Amino acid sequence: MNAYRAWAEIDLDALTHNLAVIRERAGAGTRVLLVVKADAYGHGAVPIAHHAVRSGVAGFGVGSSAEALELRRSGIRLPILVLGTIIDDEADDCLRHDVHVALHSSSRGAMLQQLARRMGLVAKVHVNVDTGMGRLGVLPGKAVELLREVRAAPNLALCGVMTHVSAPEGALAASTADQQRLFEGVLREARAAGLLCGWTHMANSAALFTALRPRYDTVRPGISAYGILPHDLRGSDQLRPVLALRSQVVFLKDIPAGYPVGYGSTWRSTRPTRIATLPVGYNDGVAWRLGNRGEVLVRGARAKIVGRVSMDYTTVDVGHIRGVEVGDIVTLIGSDGAQTITAEEVAARADTIAYEITCSLGKRVTRVLRGGTDVVVPAQPPPAAAHLPRAAGPSEAHVSTARDDEPRLRTGS
Ligand SMILES: *Cc1c(COP(=O)(O)O)cnc(C)c1O
Repeated sequence: MNAYRAWAEIDLDALTHNLAVIRERAGAGTRVLLVVKADAYGHGAVPIAHHAVRSGVAGFGVGSSAEALELRRSGIRLPILVLGTIIDDEADDCLRHDVHVALHSSSRGAMLQQLARRMGLVAKVHVNVDTGMGRLGVLPGKAVELLREVRAAPNLALCGVMTHVSAPEGALAASTADQQRLFEGVLREARAAGLLCGWTHMANSAALFTALRPRYDTVRPGISAYGILPHDLRGSDQLRPVLALRSQVVFLKDIPAGYPVGYGSTWRSTRPTRIATLPVGYNDGVAWRLGNRGEVLVRGARAKIVGRVSMDYTTVDVGHIRGVEVGDIVTLIGSDGAQTITAEEVAARADTIAYEITCSLGKRVTRVLRGGTDVVVPAQPPPAAAHLPRAAGPSEAHVSTARDDEPRLRTGS
């Protein structure tokens, strides 16, 4: 019997494989800053990050200081960057735990400088240049000025210059070429003024798999590491999905023709059939939109989701599948026999993007790790005994171990 109502199998060997493909695409000497925001797109950031360290990534991108601290507390010592922006109240934690933050404005730079000076620390920043995303970042015309201010601030260290591609088609979109031209302009001017240092990065998965050139010294893939490519881009056949979502049949019911199923009676049987109820619902990440549209795999065959998906349960018509029993494994994402349902397929049926499908996995879904014993590169050297990770509270300062490949820090006068 299966111990869980619903579980996500996380295939660490698939992650190893995908990171090898990514490192090869990035090219020798190009760092991989693996994006593990949103709990590694629903996969579980801590196990994903620890495995990725052993697979040769150079750092991690997260969405908030809380996500960064979760990694630090679990013993991750590599650079961690809060990709978007922090709110003011997150700055203290970021400085204390050696977390890099993206910088978008002079006022935030001044605030960080003041706080860092008061704490006797250095704030590590990556200046984000808005070349067309229109969300965060400093406009190209103001970027060099901001870089100058960072240089002049004794408690700020420039660890990177970045921009973010808006087109899901990556380098295939004309807008990406425009974005890169603007970024290049800023880099050229900053280099000429001697302001450039740290990592330079632009490429997300879409840009990396559409061969953005140049791709600079660091790439920031997220979804491709999990075996998914955005926008049906070519190259997904080289990747392996890391996640499978499974549940089990908890109840079987034979119903006559014309019988309604689910809230609102949006589905009625047209023949006598058998309904299997699964103990997994929209709170667990089965999109409500999959009602009367989605499919699952039972005994290697496809079965349709019938009626609306409810919070804790989903109903499927298994009248055409022989021998279904209570306790049978049901695959909502992944393979069973010759059949596969990908996150991309689920996303298309639910009228959304694959990112949202994996990010929506709820906290009741147990993450079960598989594989992970074979890694491509040797493990990080073990930390000295005094630095051994333990479950430290958020107030305990993180002790960072210097690495050769970290950007050189300018610590002021
Ligand atoms: C999420 C994110 C990425 C990763 O994007 P993918 O499409 O998942 O590869 C890279 N950079 C930034 C700034 C991001 O927010």
